[in-house]
Amino acid sequence: MTQLLIGGTWRDASDGTTREIRCPADGRLVTTVPEGTAEDSVDAVRAARDAFDNGPWPRTPSPERAALLHRLADRLTAEKEDVARLEAMDTGKRMVEARVDMDDIIGVFRHFASLAQADAGRVVDPGMPDVASRIVHEPMGVCSLITPWNFPLLQTSWKVAPALAAGCTFILKPSELTPSTAIWLVRTLAEEGLPDGVANLVLGAGDRVGAPLTELPEVDLVSFTGGLVTGRRIMASAAPTVKKVALELGGKNPNIVFADADREAALDMALTAIFLDSGQVCSAGARLIVEDSIHDEFVDELVARAGRIRLGGPDDPQAETGPLISAAHREKVEAYVAAGLAEGAVLRVGGTRPTGEGWDEGHWFPPTILDGCSADMSCVQDESFGPVLTVETFTGDSPDALEEAAVSLANDTIYGLAGAVWTGDAGRAERVAARLRHGTIWINDYHPYVPQAEWGGFKQSGIGRELGLAGLEEYRETKHVWHNTRPGAQYWFPSTRPDA
Ligand code: NDP
Repeated sequence: MTQLLIGGTWRDASDGTTREIRCPADGRLVTTVPEGTAEDSVDAVRAARDAFDNGPWPRTPSPERAALLHRLADRLTAEKEDVARLEAMDTGKRMVEARVDMDDIIGVFRHFASLAQADAGRVVDPGMPDVASRIVHEPMGVCSLITPWNFPLLQTSWKVAPALAAGCTFILKPSELTPSTAIWLVRTLAEEGLPDGVANLVLGAGDRVGAPLTELPEVDLVSFTGGLVTGRRIMASAAPTVKKVALELGGKNPNIVFADADREAALDMALTAIFLDSGQVCSAGARLIVEDSIHDEFVDELVARAGRIRLGGPDDPQAETGPLISAAHREKVEAYVAAGLAEGAVLRVGGTRPTGEGWDEGHWFPPTILDGCSADMSCVQDESFGPVLTVETFTGDSPDALEEAAVSLANDTIYGLAGAVWTGDAGRAERVAARLRHGTIWINDYHPYVPQAEWGGFKQSGIGRELGLAGLEEYRETKHVWHNTRPGAQYWFPSTRPDA
């Protein structure tokens, strides 16, 4: 079923418009889905409001909510191959990567299932006899969940799992480019017994279906993952009704390599850091900051290895990374490289799209390294969201000065999502990690994350946290209940006493 789901009813777009979804690797038609309208979004918001105010889900005991999340994880385990294929077709990514994503998603649902029952609130001692005071957590309400195209179901799971664990209702709007696994998700939740109206799905472009999701007073929370420009717009739309907003807006993430690092590990992981999923990763290590004394040797080897990475689609067993998501996105990445070259960066590898048979139908772009960069260049400051690594160097005439130089470059960005430091000196690693203004720091590693640990950004990388414990708190209101068990008049205003 490829339709919108609103209030438990599957339906086409109100004006009958549809959109073809095509695989970014070869342009093949994957599916045709309704292209929703603002009217559809209004209906979805009203359905979610009704389900929250009048339906059973917010009042369903937490063990039952947890059980449903576990059943969803079971279904994904059983249907992993099929769902991975849906994801690979929509995104063009390799099946091997899509399967890894599925394992991560199963872990996310199980994590929030275990948390659903974990925090029953707490008792506060007000220091007064005859008063019982307690803190309780309640579901936030109606949530608009807006997700991007790079890890469609994974990023959706980071929002849907805690929203359901907390007892919220929601309207899910996946990227217009990658709707297939969102459709699978809401269908499966319905089959597993989620009451009508709790999960609503609208499909379509942000500028068509987005406004009601971020503006209507019936919405309590907007949780968005995507670009900084859209994030700013969403925050502004949510402001008049003072909605809670949770934003994950990407980054321009530094990967610092000191000369005393394990060279082979740092080299290998510098490639993974940026070229995984063709750089379309919010935490991609797009900014290599390498100690000047090893720059030539390190970057020469990086360039040689980057040039060997093989591009290919979901079913190509030789492929090591996939295409970019769309023609428009590739043009953006190309413009970003051109701007870097115009500012004086040196192209060491990649930089131009492959052409010819097998390449022209997909949105291919090769691993690209821009050397000789400095922090004032746009290619260092702006997020390309493609397979483009910029290289800067640092030096210092003392160990402290060296660390200071690396930290100051790594923090010279409006973003603050993630970063890494590579060094053989544990003390140095801790000192540098402590000073980096980024939400996740890897020491001698890059990219791993676990659902038990919070994820999110400092500075303009976002507001709030996903995953961990805080990822559930985003979807909960905290309420203080004060119960005077021996009420009595106090006559603050003496003149109001009956005998005055
Ligand atoms: P966007 O930020 O435009 O899109 C992310 C989601 O927001 C999509 O579902 C999109 O819908 C939706 N959206 C867009 N405009 C609105 C709106 N006014 N109201 C409500 N929802 C809206 O990302 P793009 O796909 O255009 O990518 C742009 C850049 O964002 C990338 O180049 C990259 O830099 C960054 N990005 C960051 C990600 C991250 O993980 N932090 C993930 C993806 C992108 P639709 O696309 O269907 O129109």
